[in-house]
Amino acid sequence: MSAGAGKSARHDGPFQKNDVVTMDIVGLTHEGEGVGRSDGFTLFVHGALPGEKVRAKVMKLKKQYGYARMEELLAPSGDRVEPPCEIYKECGGCQLQHLDYEAQLAWKRQHVVDNLTRIGKLNNITVHPTIGMDEPWKYRNKASVPVGHASVRSGGADRVEEGGADGLIAGFYARGSHRIIDMDDCLIQHEHNDEVIRVVKGIARELRVTPYDEESGTGVLRHIMARTGVVTGEIMVVLVTNGKRLPRQPEWIEHIRKALPAVKSIVQNVNERSTNVIFGDETKVLWGSEVIYDELDGIRFAISARSFYQVNPAQTVALYRKAVEYAALSGTEKVIDAYCGIGTISLFLARQAGEVYGVEIVPEAIEDAKRNAQLNGIENASFEAGPAEVVIPRWRDEGIEADVIVVDPPRKGCDPALLDTILDISPERVVYVSCNPSTLARDLRVLEDGGYRTVEVQPVDMFPHTVHVECVVGICRVDT
Ligand code: SAH
Repeated sequence: MSAGAGKSARHDGPFQKNDVVTMDIVGLTHEGEGVGRSDGFTLFVHGALPGEKVRAKVMKLKKQYGYARMEELLAPSGDRVEPPCEIYKECGGCQLQHLDYEAQLAWKRQHVVDNLTRIGKLNNITVHPTIGMDEPWKYRNKASVPVGHASVRSGGADRVEEGGADGLIAGFYARGSHRIIDMDDCLIQHEHNDEVIRVVKGIARELRVTPYDEESGTGVLRHIMARTGVVTGEIMVVLVTNGKRLPRQPEWIEHIRKALPAVKSIVQNVNERSTNVIFGDETKVLWGSEVIYDELDGIRFAISARSFYQVNPAQTVALYRKAVEYAALSGTEKVIDAYCGIGTISLFLARQAGEVYGVEIVPEAIEDAKRNAQLNGIENASFEAGPAEVVIPRWRDEGIEADVIVVDPPRKGCDPALLDTILDISPERVVYVSCNPSTLARDLRVLEDGGYRTVEVQPVDMFPHTVHVECVVGICRVDT
């Protein structure tokens, strides 16, 4: 079948649509789908695990591969477990609950190795076993749930969801669609956040606030976000609304405070755009403080609604300690922390460095970072808002000679201009914290070609039961 051929055209490969095929599962994609091989052809099978034999029905065919739906599990993997979550099959939030936790950790490590070899052409790198959690549940300190109407079908919906009292539901998007599944209890979510979502949903129903409808762009409440400072117990509630007006605002505040005494901050964010991006540009405090506080490894952090803050605090401490270890500081070094967020890694580093310079693109996060340095009496850390790839070259021109550069970019990895600047500044060590092994591998190749050596990689499981893998990497200048 050539590209663009009609639905009825026959496929050139060994199978046709609706064929039922018996096959061996030989791998797991980065999205957690089983990779099946039969007659030299690849079929992706949702829910299948490596080592299994399945019978599956071909649903969709592309030129080189296709998708099949599992009909029968003929030989299960020894690593298969019963997923404890009741809505696991529908929800798009977790992908690996059917895989034993130790096997998840091993797969994550192997996924990193595969990316380093395939994309980075980096062979024989030391990749340590993934640091996992003793109790890998209820770990998320932040919940962000879409709000919708129970009786409304939205993009790609194939059935109508039963809803709460008067139709307002909030929960998770079903896998691969924008159909909202109402949810009151999530196994990977801190119980405070579950409670906030339940309470806020109840208040919205009681106050008859209309849920947002994605198709028509009407309705008021779009998203509910809850964030808990796990050490301090402080809670922030953010209501994302379609428009500036939140009907019955005083009652909202009164109800939330009464039901949830640990709430220290109630915030409204206005998002009127037709977009998948959760937050709009306007944020206002409805009641209480504009930040909540939390603590990591004895350092206190103020966190505002729009700032990035790692979602798994226990594992964050493990990750940051590794980053500090790989920075190998003696107390005199100048260190740059690029993509610093609210200055978390910067302040961990500052305890052992001469001077730390943090840079981050979100101005509110930089305000938080400055406040956090003060809050902890840390005087050797300074921060600037702006793109790392613009600010760091300027610092270099101003004479800041970094001995160590730490980067912690978003999923798309480092900007090429930043990598050029790092090579130009030529620090003794680079520490790369990454949430995406493929862009990590790409960027490490650039550093290797520029005279650096990847010394060791430590995967840390920040997001148990999902396919996400976080890594911290120690990198040295070759002549050092
Ligand atoms: N190191 C922090 C934040 C990491 S998340 C922590 O551990 O908490 C990545 C951060 O990069 C986000 O805060 C995001 O706002 C920021 N960011 C994205 N693009 C950027 C750029 N071009 N320059 C600087 N910061 C950027």
